[in-house]
Amino acid sequence: MAKNILICDDAAFMRMMIKDILTKNGYNIVGEAENGAKAVEKYAELKPDLVLMDITMPEMDGIEALKKIKAADANASIIMCSAMGQQAMVIESIQSGAKDFIVKPFQADRVLEAVQKVVG
Ligand SMILES: [Mg+2]
Repeated sequence: MAKNILICDDAAFMRMMIKDILTKNGYNIVGEAENGAKAVEKYAELKPDLVLMDITMPEMDGIEALKKIKAADANASIIMCSAMGQQAMVIESIQSGAKDFIVKPFQADRVLEAVQKVVG
C-alpha cells in the first residue's frame, strides 16, 4: 500500500516540487495545506502516514502546527522543511517530536531518504 503523505508549505511551487518527487517514487499525496492551521485541520481529517511541514508559514507556523498535531496524536510522523539559518527552530522541532528535517533548497535524494527512513 502506498503511504499517504500530507504536504504543508505556504509556497505553491514548493508543494508542487515535493509532490512531484514523492509521486514519482510511489507515494500518495493525500492533501496539501498552505498554513499551519490548515495543516492541523487536514491532519485530523486525513490521518496521513506522514506530514512534511514547512517551518515559516502565515497564520500558524510549522512548529506550532507540529506541537498541536503531536498533542492530538502522539504517533504522528512529521518531517520539518527548513530554510538555511533555522537551526534553533529545527532543534525545537526535534525536541517537540519531529522525526527528521530537510533543508531547502531540496535535493530529491535527501527528501526521499528522509521519507523512506520514517515511513518506508
Ligand atoms: Mg514557508
